[in-house]
Amino acid sequence: MPETVSLTSGVLAGISAEAARQPGIECCGLLGGTDDSGRRLITHIYPAANGLASATAYEIAPQELFRSMRQMRSDGVQLMGIYHSHPRGENYPSPTDIARAYYSDAVYFIASPAPDARQPIRAFRIRNAIVTEFAIQAV
Ligand SMILES: [Zn+2]
Repeated sequence: MPETVSLTSGVLAGISAEAARQPGIECCGLLGGTDDSGRRLITHIYPAANGLASATAYEIAPQELFRSMRQMRSDGVQLMGIYHSHPRGENYPSPTDIARAYYSDAVYFIASPAPDARQPIRAFRIRNAIVTEFAIQAV
């Protein structure tokens, strides 16, 4: 049984909208919520600009990262996840995603804007270069 991560339908729709709005580059941002002894619930989305403006990589500028973290504190939530999109190819962690997964407690969400994507949003833990997929539950 895979571990489950729950998201509000508003956050799920927000990730898809961000991916669709920037079909030529990877969209990215942070996700805030609560972790009640392993019951993860994501309730807030903090879109960020992709500092690389690339179709195959993303980077959130430090000042934007700080601003989102500050906003999370004032919203009363903690950093629960990081999302980005893969405009090209499968929405599975790339070697770069695995190498740069610095937040081992965060859930990494990858969206695919492809209309025929089997799962438009997938969620992964990336820890010590080991990728484990979560089941996503909309609440
Ligand atoms: Zn990626």
